[in-house]
Amino acid sequence: MNGADSKTPRKKTALSPDAYVAGVLGGDRAMLSRAITLIESTSPFHEAQAQEVLQRLLPYTGRSRRVGITGSPGVGKSTFIESFGCYLIEKGLTLAVLTIDPSSKRSGGSILGDKTRMEKLSRDARAFIRPSPSGESLGGVARRTRETLLLCEAAGFNTILVETVGVGQSETTLRSMVDFFLLLLLPGAGDELQGIKKGIVEMADAVLVNKADGDNRLRAEQARAEQQNALHYLQAATPGWTTEVGLCSGLTGEGIPETWALVDRFYAQLEPAGTIAKRRQQQTLEWLSNLVNDGLLRRFYHDARVKERMVVLQRELLAGTTTAVRAARELLDLFGGAR
Ligand code: GDP
Repeated sequence: MNGADSKTPRKKTALSPDAYVAGVLGGDRAMLSRAITLIESTSPFHEAQAQEVLQRLLPYTGRSRRVGITGSPGVGKSTFIESFGCYLIEKGLTLAVLTIDPSSKRSGGSILGDKTRMEKLSRDARAFIRPSPSGESLGGVARRTRETLLLCEAAGFNTILVETVGVGQSETTLRSMVDFFLLLLLPGAGDELQGIKKGIVEMADAVLVNKADGDNRLRAEQARAEQQNALHYLQAATPGWTTEVGLCSGLTGEGIPETWALVDRFYAQLEPAGTIAKRRQQQTLEWLSNLVNDGLLRRFYHDARVKERMVVLQRELLAGTTTAVRAARELLDLFGGAR
């Protein structure tokens, strides 16, 4: 992504909310990109504009399949998405690929965003690929990815893949914005060796042992049996759905149609039961509560009176002249009283 573009829309690109709304609804790719750039902007003016655009587009959102894909670096995510994505657009689906990559700020380089990934798919006009915004915290990246997803839905994409690598809490964040969650594993290595954090397998609707080709084949089959076994003891990630374990190879394309058939079955089974709508409602409420929590924390720690009193109370606490509970209560009362 062009760093300058991703931050602030250039002056000459300033458009009215009407123009953004019409452009996105018309499925105009350039306008969609500009609308995404608008929501990625940190300027308060752009933010207000972006929220107006989003609000007006809300009635046109929600009609896509939202599929999340995660796995350790090197597991073959981009190769898989390339294969899977090409398969989906050949089937006539309209595809947007988004990423949650909070790593760029910390490491100074993006794990997921480099341009050589998904070369074929990125050249295909039927797919829309938008990397993560850069220089943001996970919360910031997640908010923008979530809003980008809504914009893509309003633009008419019916299939949205969101990818993340296991950095910090990024898998949990991804789980909180998709319907179907796919975990890619390597053949022949335990979860811990693969850097799969505890609890991630439990969140998956499907586990795919990837690179099940050539010399890896036998080990992949063993890994599949082990995962299948382990899953017996876990609670299902989605009520009414049994987590599936499959084999695939992004390289040879094996398992790609089967993976999509699985996603199809998931929706066929759970949509009529209202499970997906319910999950989305929960996700939306959770998002609201996260935004409020983050906002409160930020306001609290930036409050001038709190900051001033905090220094004094910290000193008293360390000197043993007050208790943590009393100090916390005083700071909260100070903040609450200020409103
Ligand atoms: P990512 O970091 O998860 O996006 O992984 P990549 O897709 O970049 O793949 C990492 C490496 O694994 C590359 O060298 C790929 O060529 C290789 N690779 C990816 N998919 C497969 C596969 O299905 N089979 C085999 N044998 N190698 C693969």
